[in-house]
Amino acid sequence: MRDDKYLEEMLYELWDNHFCDVPRKNLVVIKFGRYSKRQLGSIKLAREGTKIKGLMKRKKDELDAQDVKSVTVITVTRYFQHDIIPEFVVRATIAHELCHYTHGFQSPLKKQFNHPHKGNVINKELAKRDLLEEQVEADKWLKGHWLDIVYKRFD
Ligand SMILES: [Zn+2]
Repeated sequence: MRDDKYLEEMLYELWDNHFCDVPRKNLVVIKFGRYSKRQLGSIKLAREGTKIKGLMKRKKDELDAQDVKSVTVITVTRYFQHDIIPEFVVRATIAHELCHYTHGFQSPLKKQFNHPHKGNVINKELAKRDLLEEQVEADKWLKGHWLDIVYKRFD
């Protein structure tokens, strides 16, 4: 079973290898959320002083070291804990959320667009970062297997 540490390592690996030009201006944390069938990932900006259950204690020193005291929280569906979901699907989901961060949505960075998805901005960003192929693979896998797995294996 994958844990939050697994997500964190994947996030930092993606950041180092594909988003290294994007400054990490605030604390960015990643965690498993609820068992969501429709929303695989989300990103939200918690303002200074917001308490994030269980997370902040562990991250307090890290937070203190940051200039910007807000926290960006990336959440992925709890189904991703299970090894039956391929790693590239988890990676593609995190990469998508990192594009939002890059574009200034739910992050302290300058907002680059009016809308987070319009104009195919995510796929353009992924292509620029050599991650589009993985996204296409993930979409293909999800189309073929996702509903079948979440309904038949887990319900
Ligand atoms: Zn999105």
